[in-house]
Amino acid sequence: MEYITLYRKYRPKDFSEIKGQEHITKILINTLEKDMISHAYLFSGPKGTGKTTVARIFAKGLNCDEGITSKPCNKCKNCLSINDGTNIDVIEIDGASNRGIDEVRSLKERVGLSPTLGRYRVFIIDESHMLTQEAFNALLKTLEEPPQKTVIILATTDPQKLPLTIISRCIRFNFKRIGIDDLVDMGRTIAKNEKVSVDEEVLYKIAEASDGSLRDFISLFEQLILFSGEKIEIENFLTLLGESGDEVYKNFFIGIQNGEDAKILSMIGELINSGKEVQEILRGIIGYGRKILFKKIFEEEIDSEVKSLKKDFIIDVIDNLIDLFSELRYSNFPRFMFEIRVLKLILKYSKAKPLIVEEEKPQKVIEEEKIPHPIKERSFVWDDFLLNLKNKNKAIYSIMRFGKFIEIKEDKIHIQFPYSSKFQKEMAEEKRDFLRNFLSELGYKNYDFDFSIQSEEDYLKEREEIEKSEEVTTLFKYFDGKVEKIEENIEDTEDEEKN
Ligand SMILES: [Zn+2]
Repeated sequence: MEYITLYRKYRPKDFSEIKGQEHITKILINTLEKDMISHAYLFSGPKGTGKTTVARIFAKGLNCDEGITSKPCNKCKNCLSINDGTNIDVIEIDGASNRGIDEVRSLKERVGLSPTLGRYRVFIIDESHMLTQEAFNALLKTLEEPPQKTVIILATTDPQKLPLTIISRCIRFNFKRIGIDDLVDMGRTIAKNEKVSVDEEVLYKIAEASDGSLRDFISLFEQLILFSGEKIEIENFLTLLGESGDEVYKNFFIGIQNGEDAKILSMIGELINSGKEVQEILRGIIGYGRKILFKKIFEEEIDSEVKSLKKDFIIDVIDNLIDLFSELRYSNFPRFMFEIRVLKLILKYSKAKPLIVEEEKPQKVIEEEKIPHPIKERSFVWDDFLLNLKNKNKAIYSIMRFGKFIEIKEDKIHIQFPYSSKFQKEMAEEKRDFLRNFLSELGYKNYDFDFSIQSEEDYLKEREEIEKSEEVTTLFKYFDGKVEKIEENIEDTEDEEKN
């Protein structure tokens, strides 16, 4: 007998089998029962949540031999061929692979034709955000003057990439991630029908790993059945899929707290190599962080390693990653931005060791470098201080070099950080003890630093001056733009040092 994949076998065939999207199926059922069919629908939502499945059921509802119905028979020629994807009037187009001019032309021609056998011609365009501009233009023409008996259903995981002119002409439905309980329910049904015994714990693990996608859930379950046979236990799950996401995310939080930069970077590398997108990883970490945070707040049982994480630490990490998540939308270097943000967090929280470990140097050179540059009493030179600091501790130097010397009053050396360097200022505060000791090592006994941050007013004034400057106004003549952010151009003193 031909083997049918579980996904094909258990893919919902009518509205009653669709889980977790009742807010959508209810309306579509009414649409069919009242025969109030529109020309265009937009189905948006995460992968595996049933967008094309619902589109097919809707198409069957339109073209079933029994007439327009919310309960297609799944027996007639039309229903069966739509289930198979072979119906001539229900055309599924993959937006990701139909991007050429020929495909667009053929799309145009096909939309213009009237249906052959059935009553409606239905176009289901998957990954529609991937269509080219020409395809969108063709589509828009069709939506403006839709041919009789034509329904276009656009499915997308990324609706923001669709032109507004298209979106505004569609009736929109947002698909939700499928809840864990619904997925586990489905798992029980499959287990019963396929005559396999499976631990409940395993079903929950598979559901967690599928991230709200029914398709992922069923295909993971299938892999497990093929792998372990009729009896599936938690060991099988762990052998096949490795440690669960939660385990990885837990190590992520613990690693940051312990300053394990190398370990965290290779963890990120492994996740990315396993095919995960940065956004996906972030979503996982944020979700996990939220979970343990709530468990801590409501004093639920947690394991001892998680117990060692402080609430404000978890909140800060989540906060940072949420910020990063929105910044990534405009970035071409998502992985790099992720790594940098994580390293900054490590720098902030690891007390044990500095982020940049100095390379071992021959003893003699160190002796030479250790001799402080002469600084006379009362003639403090900030640049000299920085140069000495660089030899002493590169990590702290890399923070302090953002500062600007303002003045010495009494025994206080006032250093100001630019408006955009709040982070460095906070770090400097944290390293105050070290810096005070180093001052006294350089002959500035009883001296201390006073750190401040440039006021917003000064920053705005500076920004205004820069905007008015000739270089910038000339730039703007050529490029349409405005000043977004001003950052100090901090140059390293590497070259000067060599002389
Ligand atoms: Zn039928």
